[in-house]
Amino acid sequence: MIINTGTTFAYKCSSCGTFQFNNISLFDLAIKKEIHFYCRCKGSSLVINRENPASYRITIPCIGCGLSHSYLLSAKEFIAQEIRVYNCPKTGMQQCFMGSDQAVRRRIDNLEKEFDDLITMFGYDNYFSNTQVMFDSLNIIHDIAERGNLFCECGNNDIELLLLSDKIYLRCNKCPGNKVIYASSNEHLKDNSLKKQILLLDEEHSSDIKVTEQLLIKRDGK
Ligand SMILES: [Zn+2]
Ligand SMILES: [Zn+2]
Ligand SMILES: [Zn+2]
Repeated sequence: MIINTGTTFAYKCSSCGTFQFNNISLFDLAIKKEIHFYCRCKGSSLVINRENPASYRITIPCIGCGLSHSYLLSAKEFIAQEIRVYNCPKTGMQQCFMGSDQAVRRRIDNLEKEFDDLITMFGYDNYFSNTQVMFDSLNIIHDIAERGNLFCECGNNDIELLLLSDKIYLRCNKCPGNKVIYASSNEHLKDNSLKKQILLLDEEHSSDIKVTEQLLIKRDGK
């Protein structure tokens, strides 16, 4: 009988925002007390520490809130093959997937497929200044809307979403209420992920948005 003790991690690098895959076995950990996995960009690393023979601490720098989060796992949990998802406790952003190599890759493929669908929907992939930040920011807004925390000061929550190359323009369907969400840098992504609610106000710069440049989508993506 072959026992597969390998576990794959995919974590979202806090510096470049891409998913980094790493595979590790309990045998590796039995030899070393501490293992660092660096992202390709060398901007961040995931660290695994053996605390005692039966438990491990995983520390991951978080792109969502800028802090690091650590998770304690038993050896049994460590080799469990089903997928685990770790979310930033502050922003809810998915920051790490762990499980069998196949399960983790399938999960990331699905995420990337959603992303590809979005790109296909717009027909070209160089429209956005930073496509990944735009995609993640859209997901954040979607989650806020799902929790009922996206609304206009007039009380309406029927909000239209306009995508520009570097920002998302939210517009009330009932009044001039609007809000601009910037989405072209990791700094913006960090700001966006800290938002708990979005309130549209009837004031300022609706005029600097040129309608001809807009890509219009409804909040439900249809
Ligand atoms: Zn990186
Ligand atoms: Zn976080
Ligand atoms: Zn309104």
